[in-house]
Amino acid sequence: MQRTTMRRDIRTLKPEDLSQLVSDLGQPAFRAKQIGEWLFQKNVRSFDEMTNLPKALREQLAERYSFSAPTETARQVSRDGSRKYLLTFSDGTAVETVGMPRRNKLAVCISTQAGCAMGCAFCATGMSGLMRSLSAREMVDQVLHVADDFNERVTSVVFMGQGEPFANFDATVEALRMLNDPDGLAIGARHLTVSTCGIIPSIRRFAELPEQFTLAVSLHSAVQETRNKLMPGVKKFTLLRLHETLQLYTEKTGRRPSYEFAMIDGVNDTRPEMEALVDFCAGTLCHVNLIQLNDIPSSPLKPSPQEKVERLQHLLEMHGVETTIRNSRGQDIDAACGQLKQRFAVKKAGE
Ligand code: SAH
Ligand code: SF4
Repeated sequence: MQRTTMRRDIRTLKPEDLSQLVSDLGQPAFRAKQIGEWLFQKNVRSFDEMTNLPKALREQLAERYSFSAPTETARQVSRDGSRKYLLTFSDGTAVETVGMPRRNKLAVCISTQAGCAMGCAFCATGMSGLMRSLSAREMVDQVLHVADDFNERVTSVVFMGQGEPFANFDATVEALRMLNDPDGLAIGARHLTVSTCGIIPSIRRFAELPEQFTLAVSLHSAVQETRNKLMPGVKKFTLLRLHETLQLYTEKTGRRPSYEFAMIDGVNDTRPEMEALVDFCAGTLCHVNLIQLNDIPSSPLKPSPQEKVERLQHLLEMHGVETTIRNSRGQDIDAACGQLKQRFAVKKAGE
């Protein structure tokens, strides 16, 4: 475990705190912008790397502040180029993060909590319970780590790793804003996607945000009884209320939520299940993402055959519901959705 320090991590400062700091140190205002660029665009790990600051200022900063970026404790690289990292924070808590390169783009999937309390039956993370929620800084640090490792600009971030972002709402919104900040990573709001299992009060709050962040909802069944079994943590937020809330969301924001639907053999791929999903979606603003369940060896739930996935896509499209079949990336390294649990059997970083 890393040594804890009494000095505050400089990366927890907001732009206004940096302005205050440089003014307290008797420095001109533009120094705050320079420091911000080193911290949030160039992602440096020491004050010495801030080469356009006078040496005396760098020393003053080092006396007052520390850097506590997470440490990479393991990694796996997929055949498709995705990289999964186990990142450990200074208190020893570890989370998984995935970088997914495609052509000139780099998407990052981050965790918002270590573990998850929602207990979804098909999700590897849900099986381990909740350790703790992450801070906004810890979420942004995952993105910076991947940017650094690929040495590329991150073009989109999905909050779809471990944890339920809307059970950690304030930190999630703070992280979204840090990622969106034009003086930071400057990732467009529409390229920042938060996925929730359907916590209604938080969806309402999300709808009130002025930014155009993207919302994804894990639906997985439009039949109440099935959904209760698959997603017991959100039983109290019924499908009826979820439907109403999503209507409000689209009216309020004019934006289209996407629904995640992982197809599970014999569970949510039957004719009545398909029809219920069509009823839930038809005539509303939404986009359905179908995916074959990612197999978790210890679970009795198994993926539906591909032809069922195609049949459901066809049915939805016949009713005017836009639908995409998604292929999971990084399946060979358990990086695909729901498979992020700490199963780095092996390698220490860099081996
Ligand atoms: N807690 C949030 C975000 C993290 S889970 C949520 O549930 O939306 C990210 C996505 O992976 C969710 O859509 C989740 O339903 C999906 N998922 C979890 N386990 C899966 C599995 N075994 N196969 C396919 N998708 C899965
Ligand atoms: Fe938590 Fe999402 Fe997994 Fe459900 S699917 S247990 S909400 S991480």
